[in-house]
Amino acid sequence: MNRAIIAYHQDEFNDWVAELQCGHHQHVRHNPPWVSRPWVISEAGRRSKIGMVLACKKCDEGAPRDNI
Ligand SMILES: [Zn+2]
Repeated sequence: MNRAIIAYHQDEFNDWVAELQCGHHQHVRHNPPWVSRPWVISEAGRRSKIGMVLACKKCDEGAPRDNI
């Protein structure tokens, strides 16, 4: 299910986590060469991706919301 990013926070390892409109959270790591998301490093980059949709596996699985 495609869900838009509405906010971010960092986990205990300082990795960035996107908060999706559905209430699920999803890591958005920049971990080259496997995962390349240089935009997540900067505040401006993250702000520019607000509203971008990610495929939310948790919605597909019917998982409970992460933000309660
Ligand atoms: Zn979801």
